[in-house]
Amino acid sequence: MNTSRSMEVQRGKMYKIAVVPGDGVGPEVTKATLHVLKSLGLDFEFVIFNLGLEYWKESGKQISDEDIEAIRKTDACLKGPTTTPPGPGVFRSVAVTLRQKLDLYANVRPVKSRLGVKSLHSNVDIIIVRENTEGMYKGLEFRVDGSALGVRVITSQGSNRIAHFAFELARLQKRRKVTIVHKANILKETCGLFRETCFNVATQYPEIKADELIIDAAAMKLVMEPQELDVILTTNLFGDILSDEAAGLVGGLGLIPSANIGEHFAVFEPVHGSAPQISGKGIANPSAMMLSAAMMLRYLNIPEYASRLENAIDRVLEEGTALTFDLGGSASTMDMADAVVTQVSKL
Ligand code: NAD
Repeated sequence: MNTSRSMEVQRGKMYKIAVVPGDGVGPEVTKATLHVLKSLGLDFEFVIFNLGLEYWKESGKQISDEDIEAIRKTDACLKGPTTTPPGPGVFRSVAVTLRQKLDLYANVRPVKSRLGVKSLHSNVDIIIVRENTEGMYKGLEFRVDGSALGVRVITSQGSNRIAHFAFELARLQKRRKVTIVHKANILKETCGLFRETCFNVATQYPEIKADELIIDAAAMKLVMEPQELDVILTTNLFGDILSDEAAGLVGGLGLIPSANIGEHFAVFEPVHGSAPQISGKGIANPSAMMLSAAMMLRYLNIPEYASRLENAIDRVLEEGTALTFDLGGSASTMDMADAVVTQVSKL
């Protein structure tokens, strides 16, 4: 994993964090997460960026180059989910725009079983590493004479750097296996190049097993035998779909964090979206956003604080007295945040 940025950030300093509360449940889980971060005793400056569909409706502005530059100048960004309406239109996803403009090429999504959480499987511990800037998400779509066309861009440079990232991460975390997930039997050129490049990179990491699965078989293996999977290395769209599927195995989207990492900057956000059905009720599970904040603390090179936050969340989940509705409880978002703050104070 890239650590160049984190090495620049020294312990004891003030951490300047760009915060994008986002849309729907975004501001609710962001408020809960900032509450918990403030309880850690670190010196944070939170710089709020009101980006998203609601802001666009009010201001007509999406995300300007000035916003990008101001975000880039902070130590890291913590982002809530933002709404992107389906179908043709001028409003492009804020998440995808940030990933592309800041060249955050690696999307890291750890999916693991947690004690106290009712789930379809136990003993799951998978990291999905998804290429984050290419593939079908390049935005090259158009209509011609009643047809809609999309261009899937896979480059050897993009595949090479995400493969190195996945194998370095596997090495760092002492993982046993990287599974390359593709559809090279049908998408012979695009997935073919991705597969070939990943296997070439794998030869530089002889201690880590490299195997492969075709995306459809990978989707089934995730449901039937997720314990057999370790690190998954895949392309943009496949990684997006597999990570929501994997979330469903271990208790749902309310629990799955993510990091979008580039050479010099990183954005941390929950895997889930703005959940319009439950927004405004104060009942969203804040765990995914809090665990994303813990990933951010690790990136900032303060792993002891990251572990403290993760352990506090795990204790609340295991204890089971302050759980949100998706985990079978009746606690509000802020009740759960308060319970995490209490645990932080005990650790
Ligand atoms: P979603 O992730 O918002 O919701 C899927 C399901 O998970 C819903 O049942 C929802 O209620 C539940 N859920 C999500 N977060 C939860 C939480 N914290 N606690 C409890 N339950 C939770 O997916 P969607 O409905 O397909 O998308 C809604 C909007 O979010 C769309 O506009 C989409 O574009 C956007 N989105 C944004 C991001 C992002 O900003 N990175 C990611 C995914 C989706």
